[in-house]
Amino acid sequence: KMPVYRFEVSVVIGRFQPFHNGHLKTLQFAMAKSKKIIIILGGYMLSAGVRGPWSAEERTTLIRSCFSPNQLKRISFVYVRDRLYDEKMWIDNVKGEVSKIMGDEKSVALIGHEKDSSSYYLRVFPEWEFLETGNYDGINATDIRNIYFLSRDYNKAYNFVPKIISLWLKKYRKTEHFRKLKSMYSYVHKISKNQENNLPHNVANAVVFCMGYVLLVKAKDPLRKGFYSLPEYIIKDNDNRNDCALRAIENESKFNFTAEKLELNFKLQHIFDYADRFPICKQKSFSKCYQLNLNSLPAVAKGKNIEKVEWVLINDVYLREDQMYADHYQIIQWFLKNL
Ligand code: NAD
Repeated sequence: KMPVYRFEVSVVIGRFQPFHNGHLKTLQFAMAKSKKIIIILGGYMLSAGVRGPWSAEERTTLIRSCFSPNQLKRISFVYVRDRLYDEKMWIDNVKGEVSKIMGDEKSVALIGHEKDSSSYYLRVFPEWEFLETGNYDGINATDIRNIYFLSRDYNKAYNFVPKIISLWLKKYRKTEHFRKLKSMYSYVHKISKNQENNLPHNVANAVVFCMGYVLLVKAKDPLRKGFYSLPEYIIKDNDNRNDCALRAIENESKFNFTAEKLELNFKLQHIFDYADRFPICKQKSFSKCYQLNLNSLPAVAKGKNIEKVEWVLINDVYLREDQMYADHYQIIQWFLKNL
């Protein structure tokens, strides 16, 4: 006998870093309410970091491993990028992907738990009926990651995830990825204990465009290491904020230009302040964009603590999206849209 469901589809949005018992309850709740379940996996293509160690593909494999083949027939996975500085694009992307699967069907439930202010997004889809699941056991993915990556009693993390995921996590500890992430966690943990006034609350980033290219660096500091980033400068209390993007260029790419000449090519500035853009403290990026009007790419050289400086074709930056530091990919996108 076919069960009768209240909704045709339910949408469950999450990062699932990692998929834990609270998430499992949420999906079981969704399966009792609707015929089909669409899982929206957020943070697609984000580089692996403290907030999100695992790729969309890894997360999908883990979630799938918790369900039977028959259950899986009812579940679709959709990958959605964050659009931290373009909320409308994110909302339209979620709605668009759901409508592709749904067609004209109108009976949609959005299922989740309003755990804190970051859950505001559960209220931006008024066309879907929101169903609150309630909190399951106070389980929290951030705590699980901290125990897993930082604690000597890392085994305790396994109590909060489905058994099959705990086995995967156990094996994952032997990988090179784990080692890198663990050192990132340890660094963040160590620096977070510094006095508030010693933390990098404000940085300046420079976005330099020339002939359809953008200037990127690979820095050696513990957080940016291994990722492509925009030239960056940590703003000190008595710095003039207006000069700091130029300093980022001077320090990290030894740009073959006088500051005055660069400043003539200044186009637009913006403050990027997404709450979780930096894992240690609230950090704002005072970014300035320059557009050089030249017929060849000016020579750049590695600054101190820089491993590599490179002009990258703007149209090809997306190929390195999952290797970009923090929100720098999205900062570039913001300038391209608003210039
Ligand atoms: P999450 O993995 O932390 O949680 C997924 C769901 O499970 C949420 O509804 C959460 O409240 C619920 N949940 C967590 N613990 C629970 C427990 N113990 N019991 C019951 N339910 C529990 O995911 P999240 O961070 O809320 O995911 C939102 C995603 O949407 C993120 O990827 C975020 O980046 C994305 N997003 C993007 C934008 C943008 O780019 N503009 C805007 C909003 C959201």
